[in-house]
Amino acid sequence: MSGRAARSSPSSAGAAEQGGPLQATPKATTEWIRSLRAPKPSFDPWVPQAVQIEDERARDGSTASVGTVFITNRECPFTCLMCDLWKYTTDESVPAGAVDRQVESALAQMGAISQVKLYNAGNFFDDRAVAPPDRERIATRLGHLDAVIVENHPKMVDDRVRAFRDLAGTDVDVAMGLETVHPEILPRLNKRMTLADFEAASERLRAAELQVRAFILVRAPFMTEAEGVEWACRSIDFAFSVGVECCAVIPTRAGNGALDALAAEGQFQAPTLDSLEAVAAYGLGLGQGRVFADLWDVERIATCDRCSPARIERLRTLNLTQTIPALVPCECRAV
Ligand code: SF4
Ligand SMILES: [Zn+2]
Repeated sequence: MSGRAARSSPSSAGAAEQGGPLQATPKATTEWIRSLRAPKPSFDPWVPQAVQIEDERARDGSTASVGTVFITNRECPFTCLMCDLWKYTTDESVPAGAVDRQVESALAQMGAISQVKLYNAGNFFDDRAVAPPDRERIATRLGHLDAVIVENHPKMVDDRVRAFRDLAGTDVDVAMGLETVHPEILPRLNKRMTLADFEAASERLRAAELQVRAFILVRAPFMTEAEGVEWACRSIDFAFSVGVECCAVIPTRAGNGALDALAAEGQFQAPTLDSLEAVAAYGLGLGQGRVFADLWDVERIATCDRCSPARIERLRTLNLTQTIPALVPCECRAV
């Protein structure tokens, strides 16, 4: 997950001025972001990246055993500024049947679970990532589960989502990256999505009785720490206002090349653990839906030797109980 030391856009004017966020076209921005990537390994298209099981608070308040299949498939076409998921993808579409085989073997490994996340480092309804016949076969494997969660870009939300749910015969939640509602920074993320796009996709899913999750960045690039918290909170407000049922708040991380370049120019810094805690507590305090603090690789922002383990455990408790535990006192933040 480390960024490259050498960058292909050396500039006295700075990465933010020469780089992706200010390029004239999405194509040029995409080229800039991609030019900063380190090489990625090649992967066996018949094997998922990883399989994991964890407890998660379900909508009805119970604790669900949720399996996640990190699917190996073709890279997402959007190339967002902050995304590092391309590291776990293939350059070309995987062979017919490969994604279905991955899901089949993962489900067999996972045993008794009640929900499954099918996360493909992109968009589950991108036909070049998950071929339609694979999607159909996968749907027929899911009817025994209480819920299935897939990830998808708002612009790829269409009737295929409802058809997949109908074929699966169980609840399907769609997780979409809202990222930030900051009016100037969202366009600079190269996500090629407006808030109206997100809202329209959410409405369409809700009209078909599908549930919506939102991924929200804590301290997107080009923000100070305080702005990072403020805009993450505003993003949660927006998400709930347009029908999102569950928000996952994610500390923005470097390591994809582009964010490392921006960090070197002072245009990006990862948030603190305090900020992640504050945003998660804010969202939960609204009482409008579930809020999860994303704890993947959280150790990288947990810098205090004394309190980090307890604070991470506190966030696990917050996630699982959907309550706000007392803050962990520590000299590092004078609580
Ligand atoms: S749409 Fe999602 S998966 Fe695709 S590049 Fe953007 S953040 Fe990454
Ligand atoms: Zn501390």
